[in-house]
Amino acid sequence: MGLGFVGASVPSGFEMYRGMMAVPYLRYGPLGELSVAQLRFRCVRSECVKDQNGEFLEKETHVGHGKMNSMPGDVGHIYNTSDLARYHDEIAICEGEPDTWTTKQCGIPVVGIQGANGWKPHFTELFEGYRIVWVLADGDDAGMKFATFVAEKIPVARIIPMDPGLDVNKSVKAHGEDFLREKVGMK
Ligand SMILES: [Zn+2]
Repeated sequence: MGLGFVGASVPSGFEMYRGMMAVPYLRYGPLGELSVAQLRFRCVRSECVKDQNGEFLEKETHVGHGKMNSMPGDVGHIYNTSDLARYHDEIAICEGEPDTWTTKQCGIPVVGIQGANGWKPHFTELFEGYRIVWVLADGDDAGMKFATFVAEKIPVARIIPMDPGLDVNKSVKAHGEDFLREKVGMK
């Protein structure tokens, strides 16, 4: 997935992303060459994600920036389009990059969308021809709202809600990778 980290030494213009993970949106060109369509940044600064004892916070506190940050002028792309480019008859859609990493780790073909606001009308046709498109929904109202929004665009969509209060990442942490594979009929 080509993840990186923005350390002390950064190119000019990237200073505000220090202490964040760099998340490239990689794209294969017609000759198989890899390029970066977009970069987003996942804040993992200690002061935002850990408490005074160094334990990870249940609820992160990011001040003046988000948990995920886009660069100015970013128009929004689908994350992990390389799974769209390979042949699969089923694919999953997640909200956000971290849940996409987790789903991919479970061996499930997956792409990530930056929330309901990140959906573009031309995305719909990319999901034509699949037998099933699994929409993985966080176990809360916002998650279900996102999943319903996406599923309305894709006739073969099936929504898989996570348990209440859990996103995909927390569900896999709690129940293991087989749990997610079973949910999408892979077990
Ligand atoms: Zn932060």
